[in-house]
Amino acid sequence: MRANADFYEVLGVDRKASQKEIRKAYPKLARKYHPDVNPGDAAGEQQYKEISQAYEVLSDPQKRRKYDQFGHAYQQAQATGQWEAGDFGDFVFDHFGAGSFADIFGDIFGDVGVATGRRRTRVAQAPQQGQDIRHALPVTFAEAIKGAHKALTISIADRCPACDGLGGQTKTCPACGGSGISSRGGILGMRAACPQCQGSGEIITERCAECRGGGEVTRTRQIDVTIPAGVKTGSKLRLAGEGGRGFQSGPAGDLILEVQVQKDNFFQRDGDDITIEVPITFIEAVQGATISVPTTDGRVSLKIPPGTKSGQRFRLKGQGAPRPKGGGRGDQYVAVYITAPRHLTRKQREFIDELAQTWTEDPRQDLPQGL
Ligand SMILES: [Zn+2]
Ligand SMILES: [Zn+2]
Repeated sequence: MRANADFYEVLGVDRKASQKEIRKAYPKLARKYHPDVNPGDAAGEQQYKEISQAYEVLSDPQKRRKYDQFGHAYQQAQATGQWEAGDFGDFVFDHFGAGSFADIFGDIFGDVGVATGRRRTRVAQAPQQGQDIRHALPVTFAEAIKGAHKALTISIADRCPACDGLGGQTKTCPACGGSGISSRGGILGMRAACPQCQGSGEIITERCAECRGGGEVTRTRQIDVTIPAGVKTGSKLRLAGEGGRGFQSGPAGDLILEVQVQKDNFFQRDGDDITIEVPITFIEAVQGATISVPTTDGRVSLKIPPGTKSGQRFRLKGQGAPRPKGGGRGDQYVAVYITAPRHLTRKQREFIDELAQTWTEDPRQDLPQGL
């Protein structure tokens, strides 16, 4: 591996390249340098590995950000020739401290099958921050509009406190000598996790009774959440320090709550605007009327003009959902539709018959014959 191979250069893309451009760059290069295409070409195989690594990082927006941010340290770690082993912990600690270490390498190496997740045993003789945990936060339509305080019960799989997530007493994995890497190499010659230790570099000699060796226990607790007025589906609330337990007394991660707004039977939301469909009678449509319509704040009067059509929309300015950070409110729209009368007296029916006989307007006259 070249020590300072810049991932962007490896993929031949600009530092500002879009994710799409990165995705496009990879298959071309991968095909060109694939070991199956160039058997026995050691240099080509090296290049293929570099390309795969570069793609692995740059194709993932999160890893890419880390790489952009910490690229230098990341590459030096690589230069020690221990990309996989995780023994460059001290080196990185010197530069960034414990938190950053977990951040950088937890994320970058996360799904390589090396030093994964909770069990970063070999690298982790120093405190590490716990993982950020995502959890759904269902809120009613009204809570999303008005804001709310809520007690939320959440259950998360968290680092076992009894064994600190290690699963029990451990010793260095004899199969890989603690590197976590399979000596045989995986499919396509890429690094593969050691099958015996699943890449952790350690094996358990005595299982933890608490978590039965899994390293995780389910933790259920209640959290008081303040939901700001105006949240939408997809809004995220970050509660610092409420996430996964840290390792070796490291700080906890964050809890990230993802808002899911439930549908309302009457009000529909589109961004900051709200729409409600309101029925009107045929008479109101013809004559015009002042009707009472619901808003999220209660009923208001709305004047509809004579000759109103079904589907016509009326705007109630500033009656929509609150915008975040005091940005005012969206609008509410009232979409009217004309209903047919359900009950008619004999006299009313006679009127309608009379009306029908004198009716000359054909509302469908402008429609075509067909296609
Ligand atoms: Zn345990
Ligand atoms: Zn192993």
